[in-house]
Amino acid sequence: MEAGASAPLKTRQMATATSGAGRCRLSKVGAGRRPPPARVRVAVRLRPFLDETAGASEPPCVRAIDSCSLEVANWRNYQETLKYQFDAFYGERSSQQDIYAGSVQPILRHLLEGQNASVLAYGPTGAGKTHTMLGSPEQPGVIPRALMDLLQLTREEGAEGRPWALSVTMSYLEIYQEKVLDLLDPASGDLVIREDCRGNILIPGLTQRPITSFTDFERHFLPASGNRTVGATRLNRRSSRSHAVLLVKVDQRERLAPFRQREGKLYLIDLAGSEDNRRTGNQGLRLKESGAINTSLFVLGKVVDALNQGLPRVPYRDSKLTRLLQDSLGGSAHSILIANIAPERRFYLDTVSALNFAARSREVVNRPFTNESLQLHVLPPVKLSQKELLGPSEAKRARGCEEVEPGSPEPAAAPASASQRFSPLQKLSNMDPAMLERLLSLDRMLGSQGSQGTPLLNTPKRERMVLLKTVEEKDLEIERLKMKQKELEAKVLAQEATEEEEKENSRSLLRPLSRHTVTVAKPLKKAVVMPLQLIQEQAASPHAEIHVLKKKGRKRKLKSLDASEPEEQKPEDCWELEISPELLAHGRQKILDLLNEGSTRDLRSLQRIGQKKAQLIVGWRELHGPFSQVEDLERVEGISAKQMESFLKANILGLAAGHRSGPS
Ligand code: ADP
Ligand code: MG
Repeated sequence: MEAGASAPLKTRQMATATSGAGRCRLSKVGAGRRPPPARVRVAVRLRPFLDETAGASEPPCVRAIDSCSLEVANWRNYQETLKYQFDAFYGERSSQQDIYAGSVQPILRHLLEGQNASVLAYGPTGAGKTHTMLGSPEQPGVIPRALMDLLQLTREEGAEGRPWALSVTMSYLEIYQEKVLDLLDPASGDLVIREDCRGNILIPGLTQRPITSFTDFERHFLPASGNRTVGATRLNRRSSRSHAVLLVKVDQRERLAPFRQREGKLYLIDLAGSEDNRRTGNQGLRLKESGAINTSLFVLGKVVDALNQGLPRVPYRDSKLTRLLQDSLGGSAHSILIANIAPERRFYLDTVSALNFAARSREVVNRPFTNESLQLHVLPPVKLSQKELLGPSEAKRARGCEEVEPGSPEPAAAPASASQRFSPLQKLSNMDPAMLERLLSLDRMLGSQGSQGTPLLNTPKRERMVLLKTVEEKDLEIERLKMKQKELEAKVLAQEATEEEEKENSRSLLRPLSRHTVTVAKPLKKAVVMPLQLIQEQAASPHAEIHVLKKKGRKRKLKSLDASEPEEQKPEDCWELEISPELLAHGRQKILDLLNEGSTRDLRSLQRIGQKKAQLIVGWRELHGPFSQVEDLERVEGISAKQMESFLKANILGLAAGHRSGPS
């Protein structure tokens, strides 16, 4: 019954995007064969009548045929029934344990193999989705059962003496009216969904909490669920109007060579109700909510259809839900859809449409693969001579760029930073692609020799080749990320430019006519705008750490708009500020701390950093590690040197002034 259970496990060795402190750079360790397919599994669960007496007076509109099939009356012809076959059918007497053990538990083991899995509860409001996923203290559902088992599994597999060390983290979000909201940090606002170069879906800035026990899980999950309930009271049944997504990540690090790393993601999703808006009579906000829900569920249907028909374009990007599910539907996950249906006749049309959707979903084929990579930092330091790496002829040619002492001694294995350690290889990554290709083919050759019986994986040569590939893959990855970030940044800039223009327009409208002059003078090289009060205060203080230098008598050419008025030269004062180096250093340090430790909200407190830029910064930090200096911000693609300059001016001065007025 369970996807991929019979298929032999093949690994497509992939780099994994990880985040958090202590993260090491990961790399692909080789492209594998196309992974085996695993069809999306579909189970249908019929809930019992809620009013126990109702069953006697009103027969259910759904009837079980066997453990996988069911039938419903055909509304076009009451003489006939519509028959459906699924991977499992759970009748009204089925227990929470039946659903969990039959359809969910079997896919959990894939997480420990570094593969992704997802469980989606689908169906109209009131059909039992939340009951199935969450349940109650007396009848716990899929989420608590899966977490309990997963944590137990990871404890056993990651115990001392076992080959892998394991850790588990959780994130919890909801998609409400096409906004991605972090339930573990409700103040963080709408988050963006991004895709890394390997097709992994990620949400920069989304809170991740490490969990080691079920108590840990409950400690984060229960209040976060409360965040949804608060919304529910205010917005009238919001909980059933949003898609709730629990993301559990299992991270594995191999304790011995070759020090592989694996990451498996589990999505547990309680979808919003799939009822037909036309029949609910929704109005106002409820109608708007339904619109958003129906849009995303409608797009979900379109995605499923596009996958089934093998269309070249699958509209994942048309809704937040489908974008998030991109690696679960037709992607890299073992997926199970639990379609919840109700027995009452008033649900009949919603039941038929849920069953039709479920039947279509069953045709979708995923290709789960193992997210596996090498941890570079555990490899021994390698310093190679060009001759060793390139062979004598290439070494000669390459010597023009970098001179290498042929007999230079190997450096002592002293601790060195990753960048120092791999610098020779990074230079190689800039080499002619044809030469790199040669090296890669040599690597393939060595790999094939290895499979014939010579275990080369741990030899220095093999490691060297792996590192070379690593560099190449990393560069490719950076290029693709850069392009993505450029796109995003261009959008942000365009938006900012429009806002700026609007502000400028409104300002110019307010200006008195007499000041409608166009300055043709060059802009001052050093100009810092400060609140007047602060300038006066600083100028007045004899020991001020920020000195205001006033340069008098400089002329600025002013050209009148009115052509009849002659051009005149008016003296204009120019202001320049000199800040003590100590204050500057303090301001820079404060910015650096914020860049490295601040949440998106903290980052937004900086001048010129809006929500989108803050998310870009957090995303960059998650991918590349901490910023070592404020100027690293330029490396966050799209933040140009010019923007950087004005960012520093706007922020250092503010922070320095804060330092000056604060207790010292
Ligand atoms: P949904 O999340 O699909 O809107 P709920 O899970 O909230 O629906 O279920 C609606 C009601 O039905 C709840 O009171 C729930 O306890 C009850 N219910 C749902 N499924 C079952 C079931 N299998 N057995 C008993 N009660 C159920
Ligand atoms: Mg619900």
